Amino acid sequence: MTWPCVKGTIILKAGNPQEEDGALDYAAGILKNGGVVAFPTETVYGLGANALDPQAVEKIYRAKMRPADNPLIVHVTGMEQVKELVRFIPGEAAVLAGHFWPGPLTMIFNKKNLVPDITTGGLPTVAVRVPAHPLALKLIARAGIPLAAPSANLSGRPSPTTAEHVLEDMAGRIAAILDGGPCSVGVESTVLSLLSSPPVLLRPGGVTLEKLKDVLQTEIRDLTAGQTVDFKGTPPSPGMKYRHYAPRAPLYLVEGEGPEQKRRLAALSENFTRQGYRVGLILFEESEGLFSAPVVKVLSSRREPHLAAERLFAVLRCMDSLDVDVIVAEGLHEQEMGRAVMNRLRKAATKIIKAT
Ligand code: AMP
Ligand code: MG
Repeated sequence: MTWPCVKGTIILKAGNPQEEDGALDYAAGILKNGGVVAFPTETVYGLGANALDPQAVEKIYRAKMRPADNPLIVHVTGMEQVKELVRFIPGEAAVLAGHFWPGPLTMIFNKKNLVPDITTGGLPTVAVRVPAHPLALKLIARAGIPLAAPSANLSGRPSPTTAEHVLEDMAGRIAAILDGGPCSVGVESTVLSLLSSPPVLLRPGGVTLEKLKDVLQTEIRDLTAGQTVDFKGTPPSPGMKYRHYAPRAPLYLVEGEGPEQKRRLAALSENFTRQGYRVGLILFEESEGLFSAPVVKVLSSRREPHLAAERLFAVLRCMDSLDVDVIVAEGLHEQEMGRAVMNRLRKAATKIIKAT
């Protein structure tokens, strides 16, 4: 089998059962030999390497240019593999795993010594999840090792939801990409710590806070509400202090839902246009037609935030490819998947305007 190659990075197509077997074998071989392979999960594409091999994990940090104190999520096939990595599984974690694994929920545990410090950014705890994408599960099983896998973008850039996005950032930097088509959830996993009581939400994501509360029937402290990257002191999760998900053009986020939001959005957009900037607008369906600009991208209806999540990163990357000078984005409510969408938009934003 010969696969296409861009700047030395092999693209392993795995779109149908005939292609899949050879692609998985090749990718698993690289991983077993300490190499790095990008692979699809249901959330975003991950950059995988042997989580228990410090030299392999080092290659992930280098390829992404990720700060060394920003820990990685370890991907496994199920609870049996979790038990090998962690000291203790709290009862609530077992309950949540029963409901949401395989799926976009990451939980934090106290790590055993075999998990190297580099994987956890020097923390005594490790983040673990079981992804739901069939290719991801098959790849972990075939490699026979837990895979450390952060999003497969250059640090700070929007996360990749297609193999083409991965190639934009990673061609020439990693051995191979397993191409399984676009990701269905579109934003990263929810990160939850059960090591304190009540449990703490560290990142909103593919499993909503509402669903977690429903299952646990307890309070969950949301440390991410209204969160920007301006942290004073040590954040509860290292990733919280970094600007993230950002397109090249500066992004102005106009928060709120009422007429004041629309007024501020129109004023900003007109002002930038008058100054000669090429403006890109990110809107929801309900506002389509109210504003005009050289580039307008609609995420979804406000009532379908899961669709906004699915499209968000592709739209941010698209603004770069359409060469806009400045992006003006409309904010959304913070319920259900709206919480994850707003978290990503805030971290991508250069400036946040509160029009509430
Ligand atoms: P990414 O791999 O790019 O999806 O980012 C992983 C996220 O999980 C980052 O925001 C980290 O800060 C967070 N994370 C990973 N491990 C831990 C941990 N042990 N404790 C707290 N947060 C963690
Ligand atoms: Mg990331």
